[in-house]
Amino acid sequence: MKYDVIIIGSGLGGLECGTILSREGYNVCVLEKNRLFGGCLQTFVRHGYSLDTGLHYVGSLGEGQILNQSFRYFGIMDRLRLKKLDDNAFDRIWLNGKFYDYATGPERFAETLAVQFPHERDGLEDYVRKISAVGNLVSVENLKKGFVSSQDGLKYMYVAASDAIASSVTDPVLRNVLGGNCLLYGGERGRSSFYEHGMIMSSYLEGAWRCVDGGMQIADLLVSCIRACGGTVMNCRKVTRIAVEDGHVTGVETVSPDGTSEFLEASNVISDIHPLNTLAILDRNSRVKPAYRMRIETLDNTYGVFTLYLMMEPRTSPYLNYNIYFHRGDDVWYSRSASRGVFNSCLLSMQPVSSDSGYASVISVMAPMYMDELLQWEKTGPEARGDSYLEFKARRSAELMQFLGECEADIEGRIACTLATTPLSYRDFTGTCEGSAYGLVKDCSNPLLSMVSPRTRLGNLFFTGQNVNVHGVMGVTLSSIMTCSEFLGQEYLTKRIAYA
Ligand SMILES: Cc1cc2nc3c(=O)[nH]c(=O)nc-3n(C[C@H](O)[C@H](O)[C@H](O)COP(=O)(O)OP(=O)(O)OC[C@H]3O[C@@H](n4cnc5c(N)ncnc54)[C@H](O)[C@@H]3O)c2cc1C
Repeated sequence: MKYDVIIIGSGLGGLECGTILSREGYNVCVLEKNRLFGGCLQTFVRHGYSLDTGLHYVGSLGEGQILNQSFRYFGIMDRLRLKKLDDNAFDRIWLNGKFYDYATGPERFAETLAVQFPHERDGLEDYVRKISAVGNLVSVENLKKGFVSSQDGLKYMYVAASDAIASSVTDPVLRNVLGGNCLLYGGERGRSSFYEHGMIMSSYLEGAWRCVDGGMQIADLLVSCIRACGGTVMNCRKVTRIAVEDGHVTGVETVSPDGTSEFLEASNVISDIHPLNTLAILDRNSRVKPAYRMRIETLDNTYGVFTLYLMMEPRTSPYLNYNIYFHRGDDVWYSRSASRGVFNSCLLSMQPVSSDSGYASVISVMAPMYMDELLQWEKTGPEARGDSYLEFKARRSAELMQFLGECEADIEGRIACTLATTPLSYRDFTGTCEGSAYGLVKDCSNPLLSMVSPRTRLGNLFFTGQNVNVHGVMGVTLSSIMTCSEFLGQEYLTKRIAYA
């Protein structure tokens, strides 16, 4: 059997492309190397607790908003179990002893912070105007007109988020507050683009939601949609080669855990995996030039994340309907030259459970971590890194708890057990390069070089996922629409979504 489209990887990007193309009549096959589908959307179980990997909250899911409309077209919106975060404070930024709240809605956001920064009222209004300008680049209205994003976005890609904030407000504390959730995109001072910051902020200012019982439900629903449309979704199928003949991709070679390999033919291939890993398994060919390979090899990835899961005794930890970003010091942005091995910021987020909405069963604490802290275990695989790795995780977990203590984080309840994951876990489970959390850095000093186009020089090989456009549920969904527009035409697809 020859598929119309083979998709490598069942992350959000792969599953969304599979859903769109199978709904539009293509014979699609999604191949996933792991047992569980979903990539960063995976929810896994330890000691009877469900733990989320890479999805803590999502914006733009309200009626008439772009993610809501896209999920409606996928046929999953009404089946999602969601909990809206507190409109008065969906994120709380803790900075050197004080809380600052992000409220939903641009006006309320500015108004809320103006209470603590009355001298910056005009600056805050300027900031939210800029955020709305980026947010307005993508809208259901634009989909109705037949395009995903207005071209004006380019100018925001050339500006650093930290600089754009500094040009709106002068108070150094407020500048840090406005950059306070930069852990969401691996924010680096002077480097991470205002486009990325604005897309993410504007999406959450439309409203922020958590998935009840885990983000995996999005992946499960998309898998069902693809299968219902006649598509194929296979787990435990690692793609080890993308075959090219006469300047065209002809199919992929896969290997199963028992060592069985198989060649699957396809007219087109979409890769939802990191571009560097895609190139590593792509047959050498004359179309993809060494200069392109070199460009991809030299691009930086964002930092990875050290996650400490606190699994709580039942009904001991009151559920907090907001996230808290803790920061110590005078700069919330990450710097590559900063000394490693010290926690200066982290995100604390609780997972809502349907069985007991008043209490949290799991608290996730996430902090930036680069792979260079883990070089000692670089050549090891999961469950085979030895005692030294376990000791490292235990030490870093204790340090993170100490950091939280110093931030006066008041974690109520009894901890039943803990689990720590590192960038190595992400590298081995989702295959992301260097265990990076969000893929390629969207660098404002050279945005066009650091963005990967869905199209490649091989006419029938495409990219999708978090390395095209922006990462996160919102960014990846826009990328999926852009990738599938290569098959269906942008005007046709965007209108299909807009009027679903
Ligand atoms: C710690 C963390 C927290 C996050 N929090 C949020 C959040 O709160 N909100 C938000 O919107 N976003 C969040 N994100 C980002 C979001 O999860 C990702 O941007 C998004 O899920 C990426 O989807 P993707 O399809 O690009 O790739 P991935 O999820 O990385 O999927 C790639 C898939 O390809 C598979 N694969 C790899 N190699 C092969 C191969 N050779 N053959 C077959 N399959 C292969 C992998 O197993 C994986 O399933 C977070 C990310 C992290 C890491």
